[in-house]
Amino acid sequence: MESELTNGKPLPLQSRTTNSEVRGRRCTQCRQWKPVSEFGWKTPDHKRLTARCVRCRRANYKENPHRARQRAREYYAENRQVVLAREKDRRRDDVEKQLWFAARYRSRKLSLAFTITPLDVVVPKFCPALGIPLQVSDNTAGPNSPTIDRIIPSLGYTPDNIVVVSQKANTIKSNATIQEILSVVAFYTRVIEDQRDEARAQAQALTA
Ligand SMILES: [Zn+2]
Repeated sequence: MESELTNGKPLPLQSRTTNSEVRGRRCTQCRQWKPVSEFGWKTPDHKRLTARCVRCRRANYKENPHRARQRAREYYAENRQVVLAREKDRRRDDVEKQLWFAARYRSRKLSLAFTITPLDVVVPKFCPALGIPLQVSDNTAGPNSPTIDRIIPSLGYTPDNIVVVSQKANTIKSNATIQEILSVVAFYTRVIEDQRDEARAQAQALTA
């Protein structure tokens, strides 16, 4: 019996039946029977539920955020490798969501429009600007890391104004306007052509 109360997740081992229809658990704080969906998972393998319901846990956190943060810090200190490995997996498996979160953070920091959902973030195999493969780095982001570019920066993160490009392309673009980039391209094209002409002239002078 896969109840919708479990949100399609596997039924946890210690879930109990309150009646023939509803599977749930009693919160150790508010002492109420609640469906499984009202609890969090205690372990990442989705086998054990938390003892307190989501509502109680949220209330506890609001009342004393320090304690929760302290616990998180202790957990991290004891399980550093596990936490880092889990984060690494999450980064690789859910790139779109990660990029979306980072964009939301930046939009708030810079007071920019933010109307995209994770579904608007599409990560191609290759950078559309440079053609280099897009790869999620294990540690710090590198030139091949996928990034969200705001086509016109001031318009913020809207579905029509974002494109996923490599960090390399994004860095080039974020340091200059398109006009400036074109100007740099024109300049170096000229310099390289001049050098080539000079080398040719020298070679001709030698053979003459
Ligand atoms: Zn409760």
